[in-house]
Order: sequence, then structure tokens, then C-alpha cells
Amino acid sequence: MDVITHELMHIVQNYKDEKIPNWLTEGVADYVRATEGVNNEKANWKMPDLKPENNFDNSYRITARFFVWLTQNYDKNLIIKLDSDARNNNYTPDFWKKNTGKSLEVLWEEYKMKPALK
Ligand SMILES: [Zn+2]
Repeated sequence: MDVITHELMHIVQNYKDEKIPNWLTEGVADYVRATEGVNNEKANWKMPDLKPENNFDNSYRITARFFVWLTQNYDKNLIIKLDSDARNNNYTPDFWKKNTGKSLEVLWEEYKMKPALK
């Protein structure tokens, strides 16, 4: 069922900008599944706990969990803004600094130190 949520999100996303990295596109799609999916539990689908070897660009659920953490610790609308910038061809790597005051790398380090979700 929620595989459809993920795939539907790609249709909605319709990112045309080639500057948008693939990990970001897949991370947003799984973020939407994690937050809006209707039957993840039944499908035994969940975001895995952070592992030391993970990185923000691992894509899918690993990136999605980081996105959830960012919305809980920085801005609850951050991924909505990210999606909006990506759709309007406005995404640049500067997005993170502009919206959180910190680079993606620094945010990831913070996340690794305190990865618990609320
Ligand atoms: Zn996908």
C-alpha cells in the first residue's frame, strides 16, 4: 500500500532540476511515507535506527529519518520548504544554511550525537 505513497510522491515531486541529488528525492519520498503513510505498521515498514556507518546521502529511510529529526529539532516545515524549492528549481546546497543556519554536514554531525526522535 504505502509503496504507492512513496511512488505517488515521485509523481507529485516531478523535480526537473538536474541539480537535485537523487538521495534527496528518495529521502523526501520516504519522509512522506513515514509521516503520511497509512499502513506502514502492518507492512512492517519503519525507519531503522541510525548506524555509525550511515550518512545523510544514503537515501530512502536513512535520509528520511534524518529529515524527521530535522523537522523536530529545527523547523517542522523544513521538508515542505525543501520540496517546494526543489519543485521550483530553487534548490541549492545552500538551502540548509539558509533555513537552519547550519550546513548539511554540521546538521548530520549533530544528528549523530543525538539521534533520538520524539
Ligand atoms: Zn523512490
